[in-house]
Amino acid sequence: MSLWSRLFGGKEEEPAMTHVTIHPAVDGGVRPGSASFSGGTIKCLCASDPVVVEIGGQTAHNHVCGCTKCWKPDGAVFSQIAVVGRDAVTVRSGANKLSVVDPSAAIQRHACSGCGAHMYGRIEDTGHPFHGLDFVHTELSDQDGWSAPEFAAFCSSIIESGVNPDRMDGIRSRLRELGLEPYDCLSPPLMDAIATHVAKSKGVLADA
Ligand SMILES: [Zn+2]
Ligand SMILES: [Zn+2]
Repeated sequence: MSLWSRLFGGKEEEPAMTHVTIHPAVDGGVRPGSASFSGGTIKCLCASDPVVVEIGGQTAHNHVCGCTKCWKPDGAVFSQIAVVGRDAVTVRSGANKLSVVDPSAAIQRHACSGCGAHMYGRIEDTGHPFHGLDFVHTELSDQDGWSAPEFAAFCSSIIESGVNPDRMDGIRSRLRELGLEPYDCLSPPLMDAIATHVAKSKGVLADA
């Protein structure tokens, strides 16, 4: 208890929860994206002959993700991932080092066999709600201006990676403090987009 609260009582302001780490890209605060940013390159972590992927446009729906499939840098509890149109993604070098992590997964995550970083995730199923979008980790870029993370997805799933459930309150509080609303699936707009796609393909909702 501080001297102030001993003398005057009342509630002390909650300290900033900077001791709860989420992901290196957001632990120091979420940096805003740039409206004029039009893309750049991402590079894997290999010291020599890195895989280089050009992304010819600004990303969208950037978020931190707690699922067990997305690539996380060493020690991070969450990954950070955004989407971009698949036509904007071009492998510029090191294509021979790329292989798909799990060919049976909906998202084909093309990872570097040298360092393990996932360079892009692609959906080949044309009936999938997110077909046409690739998933990329913009932290692998030296450029600033990529779209900022907006929310936290699949929070409860971090328990599946070994995070003690007792830590969840602190982790969700820290996410809110960072302005990253925690969800246990995707954000409501993305869940709505998936449901709309399903409804239209079933014919219970007319095409707009
Ligand atoms: Zn690599
Ligand atoms: Zn994920």
